[in-house]
This record gives sequence, C-alpha cells and structure tokens, in this order.
Amino acid sequence: MGTGVTSVCQQLALYPWACPALHTLTFGLCPEWDILFITVERRNIFSHQDISKFRSITLPVSIPAALGDHVRNLLRGRRVKRPSNYDLSLVGNARIALDSSLPGCMMCHRQLVACETATYLGQPVETAIKLPSKYPDSETEILATWRGRSSIWHSQVRRLRAQGCYRKNGLLTLTGDGI
Ligand SMILES: [Zn+2]
Repeated sequence: MGTGVTSVCQQLALYPWACPALHTLTFGLCPEWDILFITVERRNIFSHQDISKFRSITLPVSIPAALGDHVRNLLRGRRVKRPSNYDLSLVGNARIALDSSLPGCMMCHRQLVACETATYLGQPVETAIKLPSKYPDSETEILATWRGRSSIWHSQVRRLRAQGCYRKNGLLTLTGDGI
C-alpha cells in the first residue's frame, strides 16, 4: 500500500533527467514523507536550470497542515526548515505505529495524521514489536535503501492495523500561490 507512489518519488529524485519537463504530480495515496520532501527539495531548490521545477502537487486531503505548508513553500522555491528526514520517516515513527494501545489505520499512520480506527483486538503485542532497520544519515543512502525499510514497516504494522479507514476522502492540490 502506497509503495508505488513512494517509488515514483524515489525514481524522480534519483533520475531527474528522466522527466525534465514534469511539473505536476498527483498522488491518490500519500508518498512516504521523507522521500517526498527529498524529491521536492532536489527538484525545486537544488536542481539544474534545464529541469522543470514542480509547480503543483496533489495529495490526499488528510495530511498534516504544517507539512502541506512546507510543501507549498518548496513549490515557491523557498528552502524550508522542516522536520528531519528521520522524523518524517516510517522508521522514525515506527514506535507509534507499533504501539497497539494507540488507535489508527495504516494509511493514517503513514500520512502522520490522527485516526480513531481501533487496532486488532486480541493481537499479541509481542508479534509487532520488531522495529524496522536503522535509518541512514545521507539522502543518497535513504533513497537507495528506502524500499527495505518500507517493506518491514508494512509487514509489521499490518498485523496490528486495518489498511484504511474510508474517511477524509478527497484530494488537495498544493501550489506555491497565495503565500
Ligand atoms: Zn485512518
């Protein structure tokens, strides 16, 4: 769930010349935040002048408002002080996602938003306490090893949580206009 959209981001971050004219992204599921921010920063702040900057990014409407604002600033070409890659990552939030006393579906935990969906009752907690592997320091390494961490996170968290909660539907288009 959601690994396809994160994979698209990762590929765009690694190979910007593959789609140099691309300036609009639409994701029906939220990519993992650390990978999304690395991708947008590389494109809009650090990229070559012949590579088009992103102008609009459409995401599910239920995202943390502060992260949406950071994306808007990046779309204006402003470098933002945002949470660290680790703090935005699945690994950085794994203790919360694997805490069976906290509610929430997988999708909302991935998007870092609150959700009241109950965890699976009767699920022994010890089956879900294995945390994903360590988180790298460098962006290059984060991009190169993203899939392995994501796969461990999903395999662990799906033991505890429903995939989605069927609420807060709809999409939100973020642009650099109006701020
Ligand atoms: Zn949810």
